Amino acid sequence: MTQLQYAIAGKITPEMEYVAQSEGLDPRIIMEKVKEGKVVIPANKIHLSKNLKKLVGIGEGLKTKVNANLGTSFDYVNIEEEKEKLKVAVKYGADTVMDLSTGGNLREIRKALMEICEVPIGSVPVYEAEFDIVKKKNSIFDLEHEDFLEAVETHAKDGVDFMTIHAGITLEGIRFMKEQGRTTWIVSRGGGLLAAWMLYHNRENPLYEKFDDILDICRTYDVTISLGDSLRPGSIADSLDRAQVHELLILGELVDRARKACVQVMVEGPGHVPLNEIKTQVQLQKKICKNAPFYILGMLPTDIGAGWDHIVGAIGGAVAGSYGADMLCYITPAEHLGLPTVEHVREGVIAFKIAAHIADISKGIKSEIERDNLMSKARYSLDWESQFKLALDPETARKIYDERATKTKACSMCGPFCPMNLIEKFVNDAKKAREEVREKLTYLLKV
Ligand code: SF4
Repeated sequence: MTQLQYAIAGKITPEMEYVAQSEGLDPRIIMEKVKEGKVVIPANKIHLSKNLKKLVGIGEGLKTKVNANLGTSFDYVNIEEEKEKLKVAVKYGADTVMDLSTGGNLREIRKALMEICEVPIGSVPVYEAEFDIVKKKNSIFDLEHEDFLEAVETHAKDGVDFMTIHAGITLEGIRFMKEQGRTTWIVSRGGGLLAAWMLYHNRENPLYEKFDDILDICRTYDVTISLGDSLRPGSIADSLDRAQVHELLILGELVDRARKACVQVMVEGPGHVPLNEIKTQVQLQKKICKNAPFYILGMLPTDIGAGWDHIVGAIGGAVAGSYGADMLCYITPAEHLGLPTVEHVREGVIAFKIAAHIADISKGIKSEIERDNLMSKARYSLDWESQFKLALDPETARKIYDERATKTKACSMCGPFCPMNLIEKFVNDAKKAREEVREKLTYLLKV
């Protein structure tokens, strides 16, 4: 049975209990939300029986999650480096990872990553169809419907917990795009492949036509479907155009079909969106997809942040999260420029953990608000150890503090003129604040 089937039957699974504990909520709330399709718990039975240890719930009322993309490319195939990226991503707080490898032996790479992956792992099976199955054929245009299904089943059997399925792009959607015109036509790798296949054959999207078969596979292994947005805007100029909205309508229908088949489902979203349209993007998705968890890429509110797109994405992600986006796919400084390095992965994860945390404060998540309050108290009482522990990136915080020593108990910025320190002489509650921080800290960092 899938988590959704258990929830419908009124049974609280150990996975729901785990999620409830990590969110500080009653397990019955998690069960109800899974039942309504507002929360998903990506946990393939195969991965669960091996090394899936850090489960996550994604959706309404829960903390905003962060996904980190990994994977080789045509130019760079280094399994050890990808394994290192995975370790670093998880160390710095990625809740899930996706293997988006497109170079080398894709199955071998996936298996190597899965062996060390204790968080839910996602993939895009259409890449497998494109890069592995195609080797047995002459070109991608020779692929048949069965080849796409084979890719989905292979990933499910390997234990992938969630899969991007680009079933929402249709010939009608492509027509909308062509007739309205676009600045950047298709920026989704999987979507681009499918569009090329569809236009070449003048046939409908095989993933759309075979969606029921995909549901059967996903139900068997309890794979969560992540409905891909092939026609997402790749520039702020294309945000909310006819093609994007048309695809969203199809995704809404596919959410209904997945839920009816007892398959957990979430929906992917953009992409490049001007800040003033982020709220509309989130509200539209939530309404049309009946509150299915919303998993966004960024969002990126400007197109010109090359080299700093992790910052651009974190700004958009925080805003989107505050309006209800449930999971943020991180963006690294290498976005639009090249395959990220291990350091880029670290920077991307931290930037998006900050964005997710900002969103959670806005969403009213109590433990996250409490963390900020404790940090303020630790800051006020000049309790540096507690400040490092509460920081989203303790190593960097400590490094900067240590780099410029001070003879005072403050920091080297104001030294003896530290207002926190000065005021303590007159308002003597800093000691009390310090004690309170220490007392609550251990519990809080566990939640
Ligand atoms: S010295 Fe200045 S910057 Fe440092 S903790 Fe005190 S007020 Fe803040």
